[in-house]
Amino acid sequence: MPIGNHLSASKGFAAMGRAAVALGADTFAFFTRNPRGGAVKKMDPADAGKLLDLAGEQHFGKLVAHAPYTMNLCAAKEDVRRFSLEVIVDDLKRMEYLPGNYYNFHPGSHVGQGEEAGIALIAEALNKALTKEQTTTVLLETMAGKGSEVGRTFEELRAILDAVELKEKVGVCFDTCHVWDGGYDIAGRLDEVLEEFDRVIGLDRLRAVHFNDSMNVCGARKDRHARIGEGCIGAEALRRVAVHPLLSGRPFILETPNDDEGYRREIALFREWTKACGT
Ligand code: FE
Ligand code: FE
Ligand code: ZN
Repeated sequence: MPIGNHLSASKGFAAMGRAAVALGADTFAFFTRNPRGGAVKKMDPADAGKLLDLAGEQHFGKLVAHAPYTMNLCAAKEDVRRFSLEVIVDDLKRMEYLPGNYYNFHPGSHVGQGEEAGIALIAEALNKALTKEQTTTVLLETMAGKGSEVGRTFEELRAILDAVELKEKVGVCFDTCHVWDGGYDIAGRLDEVLEEFDRVIGLDRLRAVHFNDSMNVCGARKDRHARIGEGCIGAEALRRVAVHPLLSGRPFILETPNDDEGYRREIALFREWTKACGT
């Protein structure tokens, strides 16, 4: 099963591919541009081509790009919404240099407009940004529900997906820390949570997993990631997520506070857990 972590995009695509291999990974995540701004590097098609070659040779799973945090498709301010739409449109064009991968984003924060208004604005923006021609699948990330974040509940994500016209271009990224913080007890009731996801959204829409422990208790809505086994979800519960047959085959991305050595260890642990189940 593909496992990897978030890598720095500063040295380019091929360098990220080499860094992933050095960590024992066979997928990775990266920010498409400055996560706290919006500045973007010029696209280097040759560099993207080198990553595609390496990913082919090394049998990588799908990559999971991450939109910048400053992108808020349901912002209250019109200029922020306009900026956010420009970002996603441009990012999706750039993603076509790495065809067939995933582009994950935080649905947004409604900043006082209410969930329904937020959901409508997000879907409206997606209907402007998505194209029939794109090969990228756009993933809505499950959110912890801090502040006015939209996408904490499976129902909110479903409502967005329902309002998107090009349904085959969208899916969901299941972040274990966020789902837990959002009130879904994946440590005590994993089967029930996945059943609920299936009933409300459909597990065929669950395309990638952000694999994190949480510094806080279930339902805390805080969104502070912990290293695997060092948080409130715990190693045994996260092992059950890793080997769960309903999640098999999806790329798992670590977003844990680690240095390279720590990521290497977590990747090896994940491989140890999953090798027995043959996924
Ligand atoms: Fe995220
Ligand atoms: Fe995440
Ligand atoms: Zn988070």
